Amino acid sequence: MVGILKMFLRRKFTSLVLAEHNNVKLNPIVYSAVNATEYFNDDITVLVAGDTCGTVAQEASLIDGVSRVLHIDNRDLKYQLADSLAKAIKQVQQMNNFKRIIAGSSNFSRDVIPRLGGAFGVQPVTEITKIMNEDCYKRAAYAGNAIYTVVFVQPDVRLLTIRATSFDKNPVKKTPAPIERFDAGDVKSAMTWVSEEIIKADRPDLTSAKIVVAGGRGLKSKEGFKIAEELADTLGGAVGASRAAVDAHYCHNELQVGQTGKIVAPNLYIALGISGAIQHLAGMKDSKVIVSVNTDPEAPIFSVSDYGLVGDAFKVVPEMISKLKK
Ligand code: FAD
Repeated sequence: MVGILKMFLRRKFTSLVLAEHNNVKLNPIVYSAVNATEYFNDDITVLVAGDTCGTVAQEASLIDGVSRVLHIDNRDLKYQLADSLAKAIKQVQQMNNFKRIIAGSSNFSRDVIPRLGGAFGVQPVTEITKIMNEDCYKRAAYAGNAIYTVVFVQPDVRLLTIRATSFDKNPVKKTPAPIERFDAGDVKSAMTWVSEEIIKADRPDLTSAKIVVAGGRGLKSKEGFKIAEELADTLGGAVGASRAAVDAHYCHNELQVGQTGKIVAPNLYIALGISGAIQHLAGMKDSKVIVSVNTDPEAPIFSVSDYGLVGDAFKVVPEMISKLKK
């Protein structure tokens, strides 16, 4: 009987999406991961593994397209250390034999997916921007200047991460998918959690904000950078920055957009005093509308901008703010 049940589960549930969360709320990236997974047109299970994370399991059960949620509550998963999480996922995979395990591309998946790759002897395909078919994926390389077409040749489970900015976020549905509890057994880690430093901000999260106002070296100082913050607050948007602005300590490095920073694709991206180096463009060129203000008419940022204003940000931005406030 148990064997028949296992066979049924193996046939039915073929995609596992790993939920990134903080035991209270899902990271919005999970909605995009579910959206990408729908391409395969089969049942989608979301794994919510953490400590007292029942509300997260409920939230996951309401994502459109989700067929069921596997919920693991285990004290050793409180901080979701990749070591413990990989042990739990291995247990889940043994019971379910998923065809593919998918996560949003983030620090979370950069830690756990390679461990699963090692455990399963599988090469993960990461940062997918387009799914061509079951075996073939597009991914960006060289700061988005090259697009690789990657063909998966191993017969084993596929380990995939998707770039959230390349996929929509699935909506919420009214009827929740079933939530099943899963006991992953002993998942103790060899690592010990020490502490974390969370930057508290009243502004929207940079990676999921609909509007981003970013400042660059052209804003000259920490004081000057405040005009980007003021414009963002006027528009209800998030603040971003170029690496040069971060390196010059105008703002915290959490705000860096680009190849070595965050990848964003808001509806509106306003670049103030940013030249448009390829490493910066790699993080924002998929924004729906790009507006830039720069004193140099030859600045490369204008080549990707929908609206470009040649002018001094210190004159233009206060004017924009005062007009917006009216
Ligand atoms: P600048 O290139 O110095 O541009 C400043 C701009 O401000 C100029 O165009 C100037 O005309 C304009 N300006 C000056 N005064 C005003 C004014 N008053 N009003 C309006 N405009 C004004 N960069 C990133 O941003 N993100 C990354 O993730 C990133 N990763 C990198 C990874 C690697 C491996 C390397 C090598 C580099 C990386 N960089 C990254 C750095 C990148 O190459 C650029 O150096 C950086 O993006 C430049 O930042 P910027 O545009 O603010 O500064």
